[in-house]
Amino acid sequence: MSTKRIIFVGAPGSGKGTQSKRLMDAYGIRQVSTGDILRQAVKDGTSLGKQAKQFMDDGKLVPDSLIIDLIRDTLTTGAFPAGWVLDGFPRTMAQAEALDGLLTDLASPVQAVLVLDVPDDPIVERITGRRSCVACGNVHHVRFDPPKVDGVCDRCGGLLEQRADDTEAKVRTRLSAYHQQTSEVIPYYAGKGLVTRLDGTGQPDQVFASIRAVLDGAA
Ligand code: AMP
Repeated sequence: MSTKRIIFVGAPGSGKGTQSKRLMDAYGIRQVSTGDILRQAVKDGTSLGKQAKQFMDDGKLVPDSLIIDLIRDTLTTGAFPAGWVLDGFPRTMAQAEALDGLLTDLASPVQAVLVLDVPDDPIVERITGRRSCVACGNVHHVRFDPPKVDGVCDRCGGLLEQRADDTEAKVRTRLSAYHQQTSEVIPYYAGKGLVTRLDGTGQPDQVFASIRAVLDGAA
């Protein structure tokens, strides 16, 4: 199967993480989630984690310089034989331009930019109901995918908790960062002929079918 290099753009809670994991399984490509890498850095107490923590807790974007260094390290040192899907990067024009420079150096251009469109109100409902397992990372939703026992992960029995930045006030701040800063990258990539917009409001299976149709060239 040919190499795939894909960017997911979408508001927080639009399904980028869920769909990236499916792409990993379907195409053997690697998910690069800057949010996951940053959360791990915070947990490990690294210098990056210490610098990023307050921005993340406030629902604000982490400064470009930190994120650009992180993505450069990840893409230049990692092995990606089947390709990658970027989940949550780039989120600003400066990040998009830095990525272009890096990928030119690596001779590995982006092949598709998939935009998952979901209106703000369903996003707030999706995110505020999200509960993640502290042990295995499995994600439940209090309404759409409730655990059998309240507060306990179905998969491993670990404790479920709400992310500090998943409260309604923080979600609204994150959405405004998306509308004001991240959405600018869409016309930038559209100018390069790379963008496909997809309805992200359906069930995950439906959304994934539309993604596959685009990537397999059947759309
Ligand atoms: P996510 O899990 O992708 O929603 O990311 C969680 C948080 O990590 C965001 O609210 C930001 O504080 C930070 N973050 C993740 N990716 C980026 C990025 N590309 N640029 C700036 N901040 C980011």
